Amino acid sequence: MASPEPGGAPDPAGLSINLATLRRQCDLLQAVEVCLRHGITAIAPWRDQVAAVGLPAAVRAVRTHGLRVTGLCRGGMFPAATPEGRRAALEDNLRALEEAVELSADCLVLVVGGLPEGSRDIAGARAMVRDGIAALLEPARAAGMPLAIEPLHPMYAADRACINTLDQALELCVALDPEGAGTRPALGLAVDAYHVWWDPELQPALRRAAGRILAHHICDWLVPTRDLLLDRGMMGDGVIDLAGLRRAVEAAGFHGPQEVEIFSAETWWKRPADEVVATCLDRWRDHCQP
Ligand code: ZN
Repeated sequence: MASPEPGGAPDPAGLSINLATLRRQCDLLQAVEVCLRHGITAIAPWRDQVAAVGLPAAVRAVRTHGLRVTGLCRGGMFPAATPEGRRAALEDNLRALEEAVELSADCLVLVVGGLPEGSRDIAGARAMVRDGIAALLEPARAAGMPLAIEPLHPMYAADRACINTLDQALELCVALDPEGAGTRPALGLAVDAYHVWWDPELQPALRRAAGRILAHHICDWLVPTRDLLLDRGMMGDGVIDLAGLRRAVEAAGFHGPQEVEIFSAETWWKRPADEVVATCLDRWRDHCQP
């Protein structure tokens, strides 16, 4: 939890930077240096960012600086047109799991995947997702690495994730990991403000998700949004009640860092990394406290 510092400002330990936010400016090691300059000691890297510097160097940076890794992005992408394709997806997820363990991540985030090429069968895709998560869950349990299903806004149902609401994700959690709700469930949720803010069931769904939340991602929804993937807003620049969302997330038992995840090709990816991180910190203090 972001407990107040003597001056009354929230402790930066309550903030994590998802390194997608700095992906155009920095590699993973440079991004870590930027975060540390601003007192931020929690990060969430993407696998390609880890691969670019090499897993051993990424692990060394995490251990040397005592960083908290609030999640590894990402596993998932389970559906495929052929059994071979689905097997390859599972194998890739097993590698992601090993990387998450090496990095001592809080969870492996799952963006579950959309329709296989040429398919019009979204129910079939959802069944493949369920089978894929079921197959990954036992190795994840054995490795002690929680899996966090991230429901994505329905505009991504075809190409990124056919799990689109918290309730849909929660249903999978309960079906596949019935005993799991608790402080560190084997299967839980990543609650990303950008993807769930619009859901009329948001508040009751978060109550139902008590004990299942493994990560809390933040950014803002701009009006207008000029690009559905790469025009996420800085907190405070859009229409999401981020403080209210945080209150509900904490009421559901999650007190880990809020993780800023901003894909912003035309704005924030063009600014110096130090300015971006300083702005994240300011806006988180001003707009995201419960
Ligand atoms: Zn996210």
